[in-house]
Amino acid sequence: MSYTITSQCIGCSRCQTHCPTGAVQKTGNTFWIDQSLCNNCAGMYSVPQCMAVCPTNDGCIPDIQEFWSRWFVKYNRLVSRLRTAEQAVYWEQWFDRYSQRIASQIHSRQVTTETAR
Ligand code: SF4
Ligand code: SF4
Repeated sequence: MSYTITSQCIGCSRCQTHCPTGAVQKTGNTFWIDQSLCNNCAGMYSVPQCMAVCPTNDGCIPDIQEFWSRWFVKYNRLVSRLRTAEQAVYWEQWFDRYSQRIASQIHSRQVTTETAR
């Protein structure tokens, strides 16, 4: 999963200095992450450096869209397996309710982030 910079960023530059792949970019006073360069610090650090060094609570966070696209791939795989089980209906409803609630929370956060860009 790649990372993204939010409206909570205070522009301290620490993430740009510590990113091992050069994925953190700056345009004017705005920092952003080039998703094509971010590899989640895989193979270099056990934790993503941009998030680890950020002095704010959520200036740099996992990219939600990518997270959810992966989550739904996993979800569809699980549900398709459960369709053959006896309790398929129960689990399908459980997954639907869970994903809808989380998705609505994530959506409201995304709107806040995109408004700040
Ligand atoms: S997760 Fe790692 S590679 Fe990706 S932007 Fe952050 S520091 Fe750079
Ligand atoms: S470390 Fe956090 S506050 Fe500093 S520039 Fe990066 S995202 Fe912004």
